[in-house]
Amino acid sequence: MFRIGFGTDIHRLVAGRPLILGGVHIESDLGADGHSDADVLMHAATDAVLGALALGDLGTHFPNDEERWRNAESSQFLRYANGLIKERGYSVGNIDSVIDLEKPKLRPHINDMRANLAAALEISVERVSVKAKTGETVDAVGQRQAVRAQAIVMLVKSS
Ligand SMILES: [Zn+2]
Repeated sequence: MFRIGFGTDIHRLVAGRPLILGGVHIESDLGADGHSDADVLMHAATDAVLGALALGDLGTHFPNDEERWRNAESSQFLRYANGLIKERGYSVGNIDSVIDLEKPKLRPHINDMRANLAAALEISVERVSVKAKTGETVDAVGQRQAVRAQAIVMLVKSS
């Protein structure tokens, strides 16, 4: 009837890369390093869905040594995961997530991120929560070395 899944992701912050979180381009002097567009929120959300379905992780489905995923828009990973949800007769009950980033402040972008996640999962935005925290100047996040995201998703059997 119900399945729950958890996903987490971290990317290094470097100069000269865009910072894309939940499909939203964030104005920042540092961006996320990675093979695709390095969108930690989309990656964590995708991992949460794959976890709920016990179908491995993002790397299983989208190997990062494959050229076709270079700079790929990560919303396609979540849309792919949504296809697996439907294939197996489930729908998303709700998804909650946290982004850990020292700066800039993400509050102005939260609703756009929620809308992007909701669109990829074909659910209403009220079912999608995105929260943001800083690293309080400590650890890799606080020292602006990394951006991290965690997501948890509840799937409900629909057929
Ligand atoms: Zn990632």
